[in-house]
Parts: sequence; C-alpha cells; structure tokens
Amino acid sequence: MATERADALVVGAGLAGAAVAYHLARRGFGRVVALEADTPAAGATGRAAGIVSEQMWDRWDVEVVRESKAEYAALAARSAPGAYRTNGFLRWTSDPEVAAAIRERVAELRSWGVNVDSLDPADLATVFSGVRTDDLVGVAYAPADAVVGPSALAEAYIAEGRRAGVSWTLGARVGALEQGREGWSCSCAGTRYTSPTAVVAAGAWSKALLAASGHPLPLAPYRTQAAVLSVPGGVPETTPSFDDLDHDVYARPEDNGRVLAGDGTERFETDPRTYVTAGDETFVAHLAEAFEDRVPAWSEASLVRAWAGVCVATPDRRPLVGPVASAPGLFVITGFNGFGVMRAGGAAARLVAVIAGDGPAAVGRLQGVHPDRFGGRLPEFFPKDGFTLQAGADPRF
Ligand SMILES: Cc1cc2nc3c(=O)[nH]c(=O)nc-3n(C[C@H](O)[C@H](O)[C@H](O)COP(=O)(O)OP(=O)(O)OC[C@H]3O[C@@H](n4cnc5c(N)ncnc54)[C@H](O)[C@@H]3O)c2cc1C
Repeated sequence: MATERADALVVGAGLAGAAVAYHLARRGFGRVVALEADTPAAGATGRAAGIVSEQMWDRWDVEVVRESKAEYAALAARSAPGAYRTNGFLRWTSDPEVAAAIRERVAELRSWGVNVDSLDPADLATVFSGVRTDDLVGVAYAPADAVVGPSALAEAYIAEGRRAGVSWTLGARVGALEQGREGWSCSCAGTRYTSPTAVVAAGAWSKALLAASGHPLPLAPYRTQAAVLSVPGGVPETTPSFDDLDHDVYARPEDNGRVLAGDGTERFETDPRTYVTAGDETFVAHLAEAFEDRVPAWSEASLVRAWAGVCVATPDRRPLVGPVASAPGLFVITGFNGFGVMRAGGAAARLVAVIAGDGPAAVGRLQGVHPDRFGGRLPEFFPKDGFTLQAGADPRF
C-alpha cells in the first residue's frame, strides 16, 4: 500500500470540508490532503435549498452567516458565476403569538446589525405579489438575504483550493481515523494517509466516523425534503425567499422561473447510509396545500422533482466546530442542524484560524460551538423541524 504524509487531512467534500481545505491551503498550512467518499457535494450540500439568511438564532450565527455571505459573494464572482444572488427573505404568520415572537426577533436581530424590519402585511405586495394577506398579522423582511448554489460554491472552493495546493482524492471513504505516534492515519483508495492534524467534515456521516475513531459526539442525522415546482408564467428570480410559519414551508426562486420549496423534516434519527432519497407524497401534497392557501398565484404549480437529504442535529441545535479535547490534532465541523450552507464558509474560516494557531482570540471566536461542550455525554435527543425562528430555548416553539 502507498503511504502519504500530510500536514492536514480533511474528510468530506461538502461545503464545510471544501471550505476548510481551501482556507488551510490559503493559510499556507503545508500539504493539505482532502478525501471524499463520493463526489463533491454528494451529501446534504448537493441537496440543499441554498437560502442564506441573517435571521439566525444568536449573535454567533448571525456573524458567521455574514462572513459566509461575504465569502460566497466573492467566490461566486471569481469562480462560480450566478451562484450568489441577493433576493431578500420574508417570514409571515397569521398567529398573533408567533407574530409577537417575530417582532421580538426583529428587535433583537436589528440590535445585532441585521438589516431586517417588520412589514405591514398590507404592504407585502410591494415586495412579493400573489400572497393572500387578509389574515396575516406578522411579517418580517430582510432585503439583504440571499440565495446561493451550494454545489457550485463547493466546486469553486475545491477548484480554488486545488490551485492553492490542496490534493483532493474523490471516491476515498475513510472507515476510521486511528491515533498513533505520527498523529492520525487512515487507509482508503489503496493509500495509507498520515497527518498530525485531521478535520472531520463528513456531514451526517460524521457521527459513525467519529464513533469508529473512538471519539463519539452527540449527533443525530435526520431526513429533510425539498422539491422543485414549475409555476405557470414563471417566478422572477428577484422574488424574495419566504418562510411560511403557519404551514412550516419555505421557498426560494430558482434561476429558470421555477421555485424550490421545502421542509418535510422528520423528527427522528435516520441512517445516512440507507435513507430514502426520494421525496414523500405526503410532503409534496403538503406543499400544494400550503401554496393553495397562502400563495394562490402558485396554486397551479406542478411538481418537477422531489427529494430528501440528511442533515445532522445536536442536542442544543448549535453546530460542533473546533478541536476534540480528548484527541489532540482532531477537529470537527458538523452538526449544522439544517443550516449549514449559510454558515459553512464562515465557520470553516474560524476553525482554520484555530488550527493554524492564531491564539486565544481565534479560540474565542468558536465560543459556544465547542465540540466538547456536552462533557463527553451522549444524551438522547430528537431533531427539531422548522426554520430558525422556532429554534433555540424559546419554549413557545
Ligand atoms: C433538503 C435540504 C434543504 C436544505 N436547505 C438549506 C438552506 O436553504 N440553507 C442552509 O443553510 N442549509 C440548508 N440545508 C442544510 C445544508 O445542506 C447542510 O447543513 C450542509 O450542506 C452541510 O454541509 P457539510 O459539508 O457539513 O455536509 P455534507 O454536504 O453532507 O458533506 C459531507 C461530505 O462528506 C462525505 N463523506 C461522508 N462520510 C465520509 C467518509 N467516511 N469518508 C470520506 N468522505 C465522507 C460525503 O460524501 C459528503 O460529500 C439543507 C439540507 C437539505 C437536505
């Protein structure tokens, strides 16, 4: 078997792994070797809706989304034309209690510098026509939110990373990372790789990989769904994305006049090796009902395709990004709880600053997402559905 020594091994070519490898190479970290079991964006990244919103749970997430947005916009301009577009993001409800929560969130987000405001439902038509507004009591609008092409961005990170020196091997499934005198090793695709630094960015598969490597972390992979629909007459690509909090459905405009809509999240753990990749009929029927009720202009939409992907939850709905304390040289970036596209780029840059030894300030920038915050416990927990308003500690959601 061939042997290869690296200064850093990265496992996974989703948006997170692609961005980590890119940042390591750009930092001149030495020989960066990246391994992907399948092809780039074969996991959740290639199945994601690509909504990027600063309407996040807390300040860390808001700042990381902002950093990701800036990086994605620049990356798309250089290497992935059309993969980043500002279109705005709306949230709406007819429930007075949820409307009160929206108003609280808007005030908090604005205090963190987010460009978001409450909108009088009667004025919704000025930014999105075709919505039935008669019973809406709460609307939030963030005009600077965006949509991206997650696969195109991952490919762009990989292409730019390669130019900066990353050695990518596709079709290389890592069974386990073994700790030895030389650091971390694994054997795959006919080669034994060794490195003092290893980064697990294997999305929903990270749970099994970390457990096989002797360092399990509390992660729960779960299935969530999306669909592309064709709307007669087309939908302009400048249409804002939206989150309909009454129906638990979100949607964004696609490039070709179609819409991509989703949620269909399952609240129980699934096995990413064997999950059902097709969308459920009940999910598609729910989308049709939601459009008929709330966006009558889309009620004649026809299904183009529906699918499922696997995201990965953590007990507190915050990601795991940083060093594994019990395993020197081992780092993880996963557990994005369904919102990894919007945070992967910024989180990867912050993680690489820690790996590169930028000191306490860099470590502080990962506060709250440390992989060891559960103290070695593996509590039983269940994934939650819904967009970011329903998350966090608020008992109402
Ligand atoms: C339907 C759907 C809609 C979504 N919509 C959004 C959205 O609008 N906005 C948003 O922010 N997020 C969204 N997400 C979530 C987002 O897709 C994920 O959070 C994000 O893509 C995670 O990226 P990742 O790189 O961590 O994982 P992944 O993209 O899953 O990448 C992991 C990679 O690791 C590889 N791998 C796994 N095991 C191994 C191994 N043992 N050896 C080598 N390689 C391995 C896999 O093949 C895969 O390529 C959505 C997800 C789904 C499914």
